[in-house]
Amino acid sequence: MNDCLFCKIVAKEVPADVVLETGRALAFRDINPQAPTHVLVVPRAHYENAAALAAADDGLADDLLTACHAVAVQEGVAGDGYRVVLNTGPGAGQTVFHVHAHVIGGRSLSWPPG
Ligand code: C5P
Repeated sequence: MNDCLFCKIVAKEVPADVVLETGRALAFRDINPQAPTHVLVVPRAHYENAAALAAADDGLADDLLTACHAVAVQEGVAGDGYRVVLNTGPGAGQTVFHVHAHVIGGRSLSWPPG
């Protein structure tokens, strides 16, 4: 996807504060963090959202979740607890249409989210 921001981050054409790289995923700090730890985990391959990723059914969703947990461990938030959020569709607040998991932690998190 030529005009996809997160594809450009994956391709290193746009800078990002990368914290983890795996064969199929990349994790980088959100530029507008909502918590002490706020990292985005994206597949290197372009899928518009979580629904498209799930439909692909090729194990990539598993890899993404595994990478999210690895980020939480690396960031030191796995013990206290962390949240993984996949905003899916504009009504849920998705603004970048390359599927990404928010890994959020390092503070007390309330429920339900807004
Ligand atoms: O779930 P949603 O699509 O709203 O999340 C997009 C996220 O991407 C936002 O949290 C935003 O701060 C982040 N972002 C980023 N780097 C950019 C553009 C957006 O971390 N260059």
